[in-house]
Amino acid sequence: MPGTDYASSEHHEFLDATTEALANANLQLALANLGDTLGQRNKDAFAALPDADALRERARAIKDATLAELDRHLETLEASVQRLGGQVHFAGDGGDACRIIEEILRSGGARRVVKSKSMTTEEIHLNRALEAAGVEVVETDFGEFIIQVAKQRPSHLVAPALHLRTPEVAQLLSNHAKRSLPADAEQLAAYARETLREKFATADVGITGANFAVAESGTIVLISNEGNARLTVTMPRVHIAIMGIEKVIPKLADLPVFLKVLARAATGQTLSVYTSLVTGPRREGEHDGPEEFHLVLLDNGRSRILAGPLRESLFCIRCGACLNACPVYRNIGGHAYGGVYAGPIGAVLTPLYDGLAENKHLPHASSLCGACQTACPVKIAIPELLVKLRGALHDSPAGDSRIERLAYQVWARAMRSPRLYRLGTWLATRTIGRWTRKTRWLKRLPSGLHGWTAARDFPAPAAERFRDWWAREGKR
Ligand code: SF4
Repeated sequence: MPGTDYASSEHHEFLDATTEALANANLQLALANLGDTLGQRNKDAFAALPDADALRERARAIKDATLAELDRHLETLEASVQRLGGQVHFAGDGGDACRIIEEILRSGGARRVVKSKSMTTEEIHLNRALEAAGVEVVETDFGEFIIQVAKQRPSHLVAPALHLRTPEVAQLLSNHAKRSLPADAEQLAAYARETLREKFATADVGITGANFAVAESGTIVLISNEGNARLTVTMPRVHIAIMGIEKVIPKLADLPVFLKVLARAATGQTLSVYTSLVTGPRREGEHDGPEEFHLVLLDNGRSRILAGPLRESLFCIRCGACLNACPVYRNIGGHAYGGVYAGPIGAVLTPLYDGLAENKHLPHASSLCGACQTACPVKIAIPELLVKLRGALHDSPAGDSRIERLAYQVWARAMRSPRLYRLGTWLATRTIGRWTRKTRWLKRLPSGLHGWTAARDFPAPAAERFRDWWAREGKR
């Protein structure tokens, strides 16, 4: 699969990263309650909603139908935004998108940018590009602000600083403030608010993502709980929104379906605190809003995915529910995944955007328990997508090791031949099965397979085959 610049600077060794994450006591404490908090809130919120299942099916059907005619909906969106006085830019990849945005900033002489939380800008490494161009970039979502001060990247789709505990945040912000701040969430938020107020007032450009864009009206929908997105849009002279092309929805009438499922899935709220509908730049007679509005539509590998067997991954509305539900994410956190998107959906998206060979452990970073699919508001069959990726990996040169290939070949041969199968099970029960009759578990597999038993035991074969037992006992 061709790579994009999706995560080009983030490649790392997944297995080393997971070992590190498991040994990180602070991270483990930060992750400890995720299932009981955000995970449980999702379950409770959907349980309290009549026809929740029908609503999720509806959201899924809208996504499916929209992607089937994506080109048409994008053209409608473009025409609607232009009719309102906005400008639309199509970006083939992250580099294109960064260049387009830099050009807009350059033409307006912009020196300071405020941003609201946007995973799409993380995906294209926009901050780095703008800073290299001499522009000051200020993240205004509290979690993103912390991450920016820490010089890290988000570890969760909706809670970017989830991996940090309050004392760590206090330390980071104290260094930033050059004075001691207490480890108290409210006081730390107050510090961020006070710092950001002046930035909002003096920024030349506001950059946001877009949770949805409505084709028929040219409306960009921004959902947040902090109100910073609204300030980012209204205070600077220029507003730039950037979104993946899959975020378009055809009609305003589709929007309530997504508003209902997104807030519930993400945080268990019935509706997020701020839902801003931005429809073009400021019009004559209006008192606020930007004078200029630009919409950047990012492909970055999406049209290739659209044409392939993992198309369903484009249904994702980035709610983070699959992360909260996933036993793997809840143990290793987001950074171990290496890409911008973490958790079960990240294990699908990162290999798709960034290359399977470069991320060959990610499709296996799942127990396939199905908790992600159950939590997903648009019912993406994530386990199925991971299995497809495993299949693609198996067929690729980067796939299984020689030992694994040999083992699968022997296994496949034995399963196709009743004689070989009988011989194999006879041998296994007469040897290992009898040696481990008392313990029933293998504590250590031989070299080449010992990774399996590094952290858990391997079930030993039975001491007697079922067919032998049946031949003896079944006649009684
Ligand atoms: S895959 Fe589903 S649950 Fe996971 S972030 Fe996307 S929409 Fe949410």
